[in-house]
Amino acid sequence: MDVSGILNKANDNNLNIWGDLGMDKTEGQLLQDRLIYNPKSAWEKTKLEEKEAAFAFAEEYKDFLNRVKTEREFVAEAEIQAKAAGFLPLEEVVQSGRQLQPGMKVYSVNRQKAIILAVIGKKNPAEGVNVIGAHIDAPRIDLKQNPVYEDNGLALLKTHYYGGIKKYQWVTIPLALHGVVIKENGETVNLALGDETDDFTFTITDLLPHLAHDQMEKKMSEGITGEGLNLLIGSIPYQDEKAENKVKLNILRLLNEKYGLVEEDFVSAELEIVPAFKAKDIGLDRGLVGAYGQDDRVCSFGAFRALLDLNEVDRTAICLLTDKEEIGSVGNTGAQSRFFENFLATICAYSSTGNYQDLVLRDCLSRSKMLSADVNSGVDPNFEGVQDKRNASYLGKGIVLQKYTGSRGKSGASDANPEYLAALRKLFNDHGIAWQTGEIGKVDQGGGGTIAQYLANLGMEVVDCGVSILAMHSPYEVTSKIDIYHNYKGNRVFYGWGK
Ligand code: MN
Ligand code: MN
Repeated sequence: MDVSGILNKANDNNLNIWGDLGMDKTEGQLLQDRLIYNPKSAWEKTKLEEKEAAFAFAEEYKDFLNRVKTEREFVAEAEIQAKAAGFLPLEEVVQSGRQLQPGMKVYSVNRQKAIILAVIGKKNPAEGVNVIGAHIDAPRIDLKQNPVYEDNGLALLKTHYYGGIKKYQWVTIPLALHGVVIKENGETVNLALGDETDDFTFTITDLLPHLAHDQMEKKMSEGITGEGLNLLIGSIPYQDEKAENKVKLNILRLLNEKYGLVEEDFVSAELEIVPAFKAKDIGLDRGLVGAYGQDDRVCSFGAFRALLDLNEVDRTAICLLTDKEEIGSVGNTGAQSRFFENFLATICAYSSTGNYQDLVLRDCLSRSKMLSADVNSGVDPNFEGVQDKRNASYLGKGIVLQKYTGSRGKSGASDANPEYLAALRKLFNDHGIAWQTGEIGKVDQGGGGTIAQYLANLGMEVVDCGVSILAMHSPYEVTSKIDIYHNYKGNRVFYGWGK
């Protein structure tokens, strides 16, 4: 209906079209509501009991973030929770000769750094599955393989940062050391040292402003260098007149006494330096969550929790949690690996409703639907110049549907199909899920990518869909509780989508 139609209708009804129509809204406001895309604050659209549910969900989320700071810790925690919820290791089911029946819950772990979980649906997998994929690695600072050294009476660790960090953000904050050391005999030593709950921590120092004249003249990308990110771990020398590098020796002695480690063990270690501080509410109204690693744990936790809460589904529902997204989804634990295809092939082969042939797997893939669940750069009042505000996402306006990512003319993007987006809009609208559209920044301002393209390559319908975030990739990222909750709810609806 065009505007003249409205005017005629108003006149026909003898209404004063320029004044109070005797309704809550004017005709123009109603027309706006009907025609204009204008996502509102999800807080305003959400009922009180749902807001309380959002706050309760955020408590669980923060608790998870405080216990899970690496991909390995995510997998270990997910496995514990999945087992408690009745999930069985897929390999065990297969080896026992059992078939996968509708309603069964299974999971598979890949090298302790990636995990896939599934609730088996009533339909033949050849008709497609519903997948939510997210990554469980986060930008951080890794140790080099020969990290320990002593300099000017202090012991430090050499590092090589992982993912896209702004190096200056990682100095003069408390840092923790998480990860594994694999000894020569194959024994694994798990370490989590220096967190806020411990009475000690680590840090990387910065130069005092009094002597920083030359540093402050440099570009921000050069003021702190990669080779300068050395972690301070000790200062007391070993008591021996003749020994050398006594501070380093004393640290190695402590590591040996407590964990049985020798210096060569660092060669077969994956140790990650992560912020030591805890997740907390931000703001007097407590509406936001501040924490490390929310890219992409806000989405991976939501996708995981939504699957745990799922029971009967028609289409098999799958939660895919991958490693190495922050460095290109590479390697045998990343989204480009065969892990997901192998998992699906096993589902096809052992389902009571399916069988395995190459064609069945290909049908399954091409008929599957996926959300690539990753964060989107929200409009930051301090930096709104980098965004096209008509096409950017905002904290508090709901789950972000992002048709494409990429940079410089959509390069590297998986550009989702509009038919698929239309169906998702309807799904979210029908179920009261607050959503908005979003794009990473102004054209040619920069850009980014997700796992979407690698799964789209397999033939599935894929769109990026996740939570708006501020200070992405920093040690302290910020999200909105109402978005976290609507994302979780949207994920649940998506898993159960389709008859
Ligand atoms: Mn991400
Ligand atoms: Mn990222």
